[in-house]
Amino acid sequence: MSAVRLDTPVKFLKGIGERRAEALERLGIRTAQDLLWHLPRRYVDASSVTPLARAEVGAEVACVGRVVAKGVLPTRRGLRIFHAVLRDDSGVLECVWPGQAFLDRTIAVGQTLLVSGPVRFYHGRQMAPREYIILTESDGEADPLSAGKVLPVYPATEGLSHKVIRGLVERHLDELIPLTHDPLPPALRRSLGLPALDEALRAVHRPESSAEAEAGRRRLAFDELLDLQLTLTRARELAKRQRSGVAFEARDDLTRKLAAALPWSLTGDQQRAVAEITSDMTAPRRMHRLLMGDVGTGKTVVALFAMLLALENDFQAALMAPTELLAEQHATTLERLLAPLGIRPQLLLGRQTAAEKKAARQALASGAARLAIGTHALVQESTAFRRLGLVVIDEQHRFGVEQRAALVGKGAAPDVLLLTATPIPRSLALTLYGDLDVSTLRERPPGRGAIRTAVRTPLQRERVLDFVAAEAAEGRQTYVVLPVIEESERADLRAATTMAEALGGRWPALRVGLVHGRLKPGERDDVMRRFRSGEIDVLVATTVIEVGIDVPNATTMLIEHPDRFGLAQLHQLRGRVGRGTGNSFCILMAGETVPERLTAFAATDDGFRIAELDLAERGMGDLIGARQSGGFEVRHARLPEDEDLLARARELAARLIAADPALQRPGNQRLRERALARYPRAAELFRVG
Ligand code: ADP
Ligand code: MG
Repeated sequence: MSAVRLDTPVKFLKGIGERRAEALERLGIRTAQDLLWHLPRRYVDASSVTPLARAEVGAEVACVGRVVAKGVLPTRRGLRIFHAVLRDDSGVLECVWPGQAFLDRTIAVGQTLLVSGPVRFYHGRQMAPREYIILTESDGEADPLSAGKVLPVYPATEGLSHKVIRGLVERHLDELIPLTHDPLPPALRRSLGLPALDEALRAVHRPESSAEAEAGRRRLAFDELLDLQLTLTRARELAKRQRSGVAFEARDDLTRKLAAALPWSLTGDQQRAVAEITSDMTAPRRMHRLLMGDVGTGKTVVALFAMLLALENDFQAALMAPTELLAEQHATTLERLLAPLGIRPQLLLGRQTAAEKKAARQALASGAARLAIGTHALVQESTAFRRLGLVVIDEQHRFGVEQRAALVGKGAAPDVLLLTATPIPRSLALTLYGDLDVSTLRERPPGRGAIRTAVRTPLQRERVLDFVAAEAAEGRQTYVVLPVIEESERADLRAATTMAEALGGRWPALRVGLVHGRLKPGERDDVMRRFRSGEIDVLVATTVIEVGIDVPNATTMLIEHPDRFGLAQLHQLRGRVGRGTGNSFCILMAGETVPERLTAFAATDDGFRIAELDLAERGMGDLIGARQSGGFEVRHARLPEDEDLLARARELAARLIAADPALQRPGNQRLRERALARYPRAAELFRVG
């Protein structure tokens, strides 16, 4: 038998076969190393658990108890409620899961459950758990907490309970830890007050105390932040090196024509942004500017003014979007706006035929096409421009640092304008985009209908669905968003596929569509196109529906399990409606108790305010929205708690890169390797020479 290595696929580890390997894959665990870095979501010990008898009405508590009775009860309104009665040494507590009858298949008498959630009074004390974990399967097993341990609670998935994952980690921990190498030299590590890597890994998986687990997490968080800062610092340094650019002249030729042809006037914020961009572009230094504005604030037209300024000076401009659908949408918008000026944007997409792509590339290389719109097809080697003067990147966080760099590299020294619909608080912006100038759009164009946000509880479900049907009867469209694709991923959550079936059955006369991340990109775009053209009335979706998608006729956004989404994500979803002139609705289908966060969300529409709430709530990983997009890998770090780590990672990265820009020195090799393992696409940045 060959020895296990960190890159060994998990299916070759003892206790893991094909089936479990598949389930692990859903959690992003492919190799032994992934398993080792699959950290507990939280920890519980006897001191953080409330005896059942002392779970007080009005409190949020975590409890452990054995299931002594369970069943499904229908209510008069047709809602099916799953009940389970838990018992511990102190007494009993009833737990209820309204509308989740399917839990009857998962939860059994004899199991020990850890439940957490609010306690309320309804014929007696009841908990409506937000979360439950099966700690043991049957009566005979000892409950791990009773042994006085700190129990790590792992993120689970269908076919792999938390308990199985804990068992697998436990079984392989001592074998895997010695295979790791700490890239931080001991002296440096000690000066930062952080534990060694092996100690940290042991502490997070097998802690003696919660404090020890936290110290371990901070070490892993620091590593992540350092890798991010090394990559960003290096990218910045390279960008600064080549910062003398074109000084465009404001000829007021095309830009003036555009202003005259626009069917509306620019908002004050748009005017200010255009002025800032113009002043950057007419200066000899290269522009490196971020245009930050909530969905719907009108970033595209601002970018168009910048592109026309380049065109007036006999340069080309390119706009890169993260998906074909968004690129096409931009093309449609710009074609319309540019028609009076006699300019036709050139589209370049991966799905075009070879002949179309060839023609597009020729037009760009010869300069016949002045304005390019496309996806990452624009950065492929075979694409060349005659004279690229401005690069605009939409939803910039969806691209890797190196993809952005590749497009910029298509010109001699083009100006760069990055667009983002993810507003972030200033402190974070400085950390991530310290070298960028920022223009902000807060104001929304007038003449838009308002978006009303409502939080609804399960008893109101029927009314909500009737409302959606009534909207459809009036010809208006609805998005229904769910947190998971299939029920098997999380037995306790409604899923997109089942919802699409249920709604299709309920409304035979309506056209219900389904879109999620497991569809091929082509199929996904196809469904979205049909929704945009009105061939679909109700689109059931996961969060894959594009950030920038503009369907003015879609007026209702219904979100199931809103507690599963971060506030910034909810805000992004809400931004998909409210794009027409009529009123729009965002309906959050909450559980029976409505958490404060949702009420706060419903009360504000300010993306920056929500970004701050979100930062406080979830920390930075989700905020930069990168997890699903493969951008920044920040999973263990939390802000604001880890702000000190972030500052130290930044300082250290600056010091390392200043002394050894491509991290070539022997002492820095391991740091470089690890940063590249986390950001493979950054290889370009650290190439020697
Ligand atoms: P985003 O910032 O989300 O990318 P878009 O650029 O897609 O926003 O603009 C959203 C919509 O608002 C588009 O239909 C656009 O034509 C319209 N729009 C942009 N600016 C204005 C304005 N000043 N007045 C009225 N409508 C505008
Ligand atoms: Mg946009």
